[in-house]
Amino acid sequence: MIETRQLTKRYGDFTAVDAISFKVEPGQVLGFLGPNGAGKSTTMKMVAGFLAPTSGGATVAGFDVEQQPLEAKRVLGYLPEGAPSYGEMTVREFIDFIADVRGLTGERRFQRIDDAIGRLHLERVLEQPIDTLSKGFRRRVGLAGSILHDPKVLILDEPTDGLDPNQKQEVRTLINSMARDKTIIISTHLLEEVHAVCTRAIIIAGGRVLADATPSELEARS
Ligand code: ADP
Ligand code: ADP
Repeated sequence: MIETRQLTKRYGDFTAVDAISFKVEPGQVLGFLGPNGAGKSTTMKMVAGFLAPTSGGATVAGFDVEQQPLEAKRVLGYLPEGAPSYGEMTVREFIDFIADVRGLTGERRFQRIDDAIGRLHLERVLEQPIDTLSKGFRRRVGLAGSILHDPKVLILDEPTDGLDPNQKQEVRTLINSMARDKTIIISTHLLEEVHAVCTRAIIIAGGRVLADATPSELEARS
C-alpha cells in the first residue's frame, strides 16, 4: 500500500534521509521510531508528497507521489507535525475549508464532516477559533482534517506529541479504530506508542533504517 525506493533527501552536503526503502502492507500500522533529527518528518513529508526527494521515490496505493500527485493525495491523509497557526479560523470554518479543498459535496460532504467531528469529539468547540484551543484540541482538529476525505492511507507525524496522558490515550484509541480499514504510518519518539498502536516498527537514526521489527521483537532487544 505504501512503498519507498531509496528515498533520499540532501540539504547541501547534509543527508537528512539516506536511501530509505520500505514497504507497508494494507492494514499495517507502521511506527517510525527515532530520536529528534533522525529524519522521520522529512521521510513522511516525502511520502505524503509535500517535499520533493533529492533521489528515489515513493508510491501510495500504486500511485507515484511525484508523477501522480493528485491521485496519491486523494488516497492519503497527512497530519503535519506540531500545531500550526490557523489565524482567526474557527473549527467549523477549517473543516469546511478542507471539505472544499477535497471537493466534497452534497450528502457525502455532510456525512464526512459529521463523521470526522464525531470521531474527534469536536462538537463542543466548533465555533471557537482554533488558535484559542488547547494543544490537544488543535491536534484533534488537524486529525479531523486529515480523515475528512476518508483516505485509505494515513501519515501522522507525531500525532500525540505534546498531549496530556488522557488525550494521548484518546488519540491512540482513535488510531487503533482507524487501523481497521486504513494503512497507517505514525512517527514517534516513544516506544510505548509503538506498543500501543503499531503492528511493526522501523527504527531510524541519522537518516538510516537501523531495524525493522514487530513491537515484541523490539521489546526482546531492549
Ligand atoms: P525528525 O522528524 O526525526 O526529528 P527531521 O526529518 O525533521 O527529523 O530532520 C532530519 C534532519 O534534517 C535534522 O538534522 C534537521 O535539522 C535536518 N533538516 C530538516 N529540514 C531541513 C531543512 N529544510 N534544511 C536543512 N536541514 C534540514
Ligand atoms: P499542495 O501542497 O499540493 O498545495 P495543500 O497544502 O493544499 O496541497 O494540501 C493538500 C491536502 O492536505 C489538502 O487537500 C488538505 O485536505 C490536507 N491538509 C492541508 N493542511 C492540513 C492540515 N493542517 N490538517 C489536515 N489536513 C491538511
